[in-house]
Amino acid sequence: MGLKLFNTLSRSIQDFTPLDSTGKTVGMYCCGPTVYDFAHIGNWRTFVFADLIRRYLEFKGFSVTHVMNITDVEDKIIKGVRETKKTLSEFTSQYETAFFADLKTLNCLEPHHKPHATEHIGDIIALIEKLVARGVAYQAADGSVYFSIEKYRGSGCTYGRLLKINFDELRPGERVKSDEYAKESVADFALWKARVPEDGDVFWSSPWGEGRPGWHIECSAMSMKILGQSFDLHLGGEDLIFPHHEDEIAQSEGATGQPFVRHWLHGAFLLVEGKKMSKSLGNFFTLRDLLAKGFTGREIRYLLLTAHYRETFNFTLDGLQGARQSLARIDECLGKLREMGAPVSDPARSKLLQRAGSETGAPAGLQAKFTAALDEDLNISAAWGEVFKWVTQMNKRIADNSLNANEATAALAAWNKIDAVLGIGTTGEVEVPADIAALLEARQAARKAKDFKRADAIRDELKAKGWVIEDTPKGSKLKKI
Ligand SMILES: [Zn+2]
Repeated sequence: MGLKLFNTLSRSIQDFTPLDSTGKTVGMYCCGPTVYDFAHIGNWRTFVFADLIRRYLEFKGFSVTHVMNITDVEDKIIKGVRETKKTLSEFTSQYETAFFADLKTLNCLEPHHKPHATEHIGDIIALIEKLVARGVAYQAADGSVYFSIEKYRGSGCTYGRLLKINFDELRPGERVKSDEYAKESVADFALWKARVPEDGDVFWSSPWGEGRPGWHIECSAMSMKILGQSFDLHLGGEDLIFPHHEDEIAQSEGATGQPFVRHWLHGAFLLVEGKKMSKSLGNFFTLRDLLAKGFTGREIRYLLLTAHYRETFNFTLDGLQGARQSLARIDECLGKLREMGAPVSDPARSKLLQRAGSETGAPAGLQAKFTAALDEDLNISAAWGEVFKWVTQMNKRIADNSLNANEATAALAAWNKIDAVLGIGTTGEVEVPADIAALLEARQAARKAKDFKRADAIRDELKAKGWVIEDTPKGSKLKKI
């Protein structure tokens, strides 16, 4: 069965078909952080959602190119630079480092490309030049370059594809210079902002004089530079639909005359303790705030992954406690399966793991039900439902003594396969790589042959590779140091 996703462009659920005629590769762009502060839990919901899509596409066999930009010059950043008296890179690099550390804490895969706006000024200028040459951008008396919505619409293009806009209220030639504005102030928006004294040392030269790029053009320039004029997926939080994504479409299609993005996906808002997050309400959390309260990245990831991406989600500290309990249920079951499963030195084990690992689209079992759920516009709640049904089933069979070692091993392998999508891992034993398992086997053979010198040498070799052997009455076990 194929993957279906809601497309904000058509406001309907559509079959996901990549532009690549072989159907194998997918280009995916997710608007990244504006590095002026620590990302908050609402931002993290979007990045965990992007990680879920990326992992699921890879699970389905697509080869994904994941691009996430770093906005390292924009209105809020300039303000921060001015207030802290730091240089632009000093100011942004601290938040960028924190962002990637947090991304790792939440076990999100690192994007393949992480372009910085300040490293693509030449591409941004080239794109604006194209828009000027095509007559849809102009330099105003203030020296800044704006995108003309009137000229764009006059050339047969539609402005307002993601969001319905009332053009009766639009006064042609009215301009908006700030990066963020509301639907009511829809107007010609800035592509290049002429240098003003408040910008301090943050400026570049351009054919229109010194200045800096607007926020929206950064994403158009960097996404098309890496993924081409047309690509498959563009993601972001729903707060980016207008004006950011609407402007991205206008700038990109205005310059190339080609459709910019096939599927637009937007993650819904996050409430915290039932309310819109705000510093004054005390419900504003960065990831670090939650870690300081004793929660783990794994618990936070799990909670963010429990709700469908298009539903407004109420994130609560009670919910995090619940996440801890749910994860403990999964861990307990996996721990029992590990105890029962074939020992790591058993050659049948690796065969079973391999077989289960290649069973994408298998007709029955956890993996098939999990896939069927996520194929329906990433119905994650249904997918978790299948996971917990499976946990109950496994616990029952373990209690009944009706699960043999091979079945336990195969069950673990099925879990590993779907966990490649969920990314919650386990706090229990880590999977032993084949070369390490082979060394354990060789040590057992040496001990059996009473070659204790060799057995000790292998033990030392394993230790050097980060594994210790625990000899138990039930046999030898490996533990990661
Ligand atoms: Zn963007």
